[in-house]
Amino acid sequence: MEWHPQILDYGEALMRLLYPASCGACSSLLELEEKGICVACRIRLARLRFDPGRALLDRPFKNLGKAWCLYPYASPVKEILAGIKFLGKRWLLRVFRRDFEWITPLLALEHSYDALTPVPLHVSRLLTREFNQAEIAAEHLSAASGIPLMRGILKKSVRGPAQSTLGRRERRLNLFKTFEVPAPEKIRGKTFLLVDDILTSGATAEEAAGTLRKAGARRVDLFALAATIERAPALEEAVS
Ligand SMILES: [Zn+2]
Repeated sequence: MEWHPQILDYGEALMRLLYPASCGACSSLLELEEKGICVACRIRLARLRFDPGRALLDRPFKNLGKAWCLYPYASPVKEILAGIKFLGKRWLLRVFRRDFEWITPLLALEHSYDALTPVPLHVSRLLTREFNQAEIAAEHLSAASGIPLMRGILKKSVRGPAQSTLGRRERRLNLFKTFEVPAPEKIRGKTFLLVDDILTSGATAEEAAGTLRKAGARRVDLFALAATIERAPALEEAVS
C-alpha cells in the first residue's frame, strides 16, 4: 500500500504533538518543517563553517600530510557534537550532510584517496558509549564523496585514562603505542583520509597516522568535523 504524502505529514504532525522534538543545539522546540536543529541554529552553523581556504588547516602535524576541518569547535557545533556523543543522538550527524557534500570537490582537488578510515575508540569505550562518532562521520563522508570506507584497519590496543582528563604532555605519553594495524597487507601502498570528530591537540590523529605509515600506508591525511586549534603553531609553542 502506498501512503499519500499528506497522510505521512499528518502522521508526523501527530507524532510531534505526542513527542515534541527539540533543537539538537539550543533545545528550543522544533517546528514541523525543522529537522534536527532549528532554523536559527542552522543559520549560525552556516556562518561558522570555514571558507574553502581555511578548511585546509595551516599547521603541520607529525605523520600527517594535509589536515581538513569544517568548523571551529564553537557553538552550535559544540552542542550538536555533545548531543551525539553523550546523549546518543547519532541522527544529528545528518545536520552536516551538506558540509560533507561541500568538502568533497576540495578533497578531490587535493588528492585521490584510496580509503577513509575512522580514528577508533577502544573496545571498552565503544561498549559504554555504544558507537564511535568518528566512524559515523566517516560513513557520511564516504556516502557523499564516494571514497570507500575501510573499517577496522586500525585498532586501539591499550586502554589509558580518558584523554579529556589529561594535559597535552600526558596525552602524548598515554597514546604511546596504543594503536595497531591487524592486517598490514590491506593497507600497504595505499593513501588514507583519517576521519575524526573533534581535533584537539592533534596527538591522537598523529599517533594513528604514524601507526598506519609504519604499517606501510603511503600517505595519511586527516579530516575532522571540528577543531579547537585556532592559534598558529609558532604562537602555540611560545605560550606552552
Ligand atoms: Zn536551535
